[in-house]
Amino acid sequence: MNENHTLIVGSIGLDTIETISDRKESVLGGSATYATVAAGKSSAVHLVGIVGDDFPRESMSVFKTTTYDLSNLEQKEGKTFSWGAKYEKNWDNRHTLFTELGVFNDFNPVLKDQNKEVPFIFLANIHPTLQLLVLNQCIKRKYVIIDTMNLWIDTERNKLKEVISSCDLLLISESEAEQFTKRKDHDDQGTVLQSLGPQNIIIKCGSKGARLYSGHQLDKIGVFPIKNVIDPTGAGDSFGGGVTASLANGESLIESMINGAALASLTIEGFGIDTLHNSNINEIEKRKEYLRTTLNS
Ligand code: AMP
Repeated sequence: MNENHTLIVGSIGLDTIETISDRKESVLGGSATYATVAAGKSSAVHLVGIVGDDFPRESMSVFKTTTYDLSNLEQKEGKTFSWGAKYEKNWDNRHTLFTELGVFNDFNPVLKDQNKEVPFIFLANIHPTLQLLVLNQCIKRKYVIIDTMNLWIDTERNKLKEVISSCDLLLISESEAEQFTKRKDHDDQGTVLQSLGPQNIIIKCGSKGARLYSGHQLDKIGVFPIKNVIDPTGAGDSFGGGVTASLANGESLIESMINGAALASLTIEGFGIDTLHNSNINEIEKRKEYLRTTLNS
C-alpha cells in the first residue's frame, strides 16, 4: 500500500459549544472528525468510527469528500456520540458540560482487510481500550501516533500506558503531561513520558506552541497568530491529523509539527471544522512558512 495512506480512529460526534459570545448545538465534531479533515488535506485517510441514525446527511458528506476509505465507518441505530463544553473568556479554561457515548458504548470495530494494511496510524482521542483494539488489527503498521485526554489519564491510566508503550509518537497537552507525570519541570515530563516507550513526545502548549522531545533532542515551535479566535475545539485533533499526514508523506517530525500547527490555527478561526475544511493549500503553505521562522526562536 502507498505510503501516504493514514488510518484514523477516534470519536465522531455532535458538539454543543458555548463561548462568551455564542452558543451552537449539534456542530459536527469529535477527535476523528477534526483529525480526518486535517489529514485529508495531504493524505489518503481510512476512517474508523461509528455514528448513530441521527447523524445528519450533510455531515456524512464531509467524510465522503475528505477520506479515501469509509468502509470502517459504521452507522448504527442509536444516538451519535455527543459532547458539550463551555469556554472561559481566556479560552484556556474549558469545562466539559456532558459526554454521551451513545453508539460508542458498544462499538467493536473489525477492520476490513485493506484497512489492516495501512502503515501510518493515528489513534485520536477515544477510550484506550478501543485504541488498542484497532491497533492490534493493524498488521502492517509502520508508525503509530497516539493522542489522549485528561479523562482517560484519570480513569484508565493502566490501559492508556499499555497503548502508549506500543506507539512511536505521543501527543499530549501541557496540562495532561503534568497530570500524567506529576512533574512540573518540562524536561522531566519529556523524560518520564519517553520512559513509557515512545522516543518521540510532542507536548502541545496551546497559544505558546509545541515542544518536541525526540531522543535527546528538544525542538520548539510557536503558533501562527490568530487575531480573532472563534472556537478552539479540535485544535489538538487537527494538529494530530496534520502531524500524521506529514509523516506519511515522508516529512521530518519538525515539518510534521509545523503542518499540524498550521492546520490547528485554521480550526480555531471558525466554529467546528468550517474554516479548516474550506482552507486551501496556499493558505496552509503560507502559515507553514511563518511557523518555520518560529523554530527554536
Ligand atoms: P480538542 O479540542 O482537540 O481537545 O478536541 C475536542 C473534540 O474531542 C470534540 O469535538 C469532542 O467531540 C471530542 N471529545 C470530547 N470528549 C471526548 C471523549 N471523552 N472521547 C472522545 N472524544 C471526545
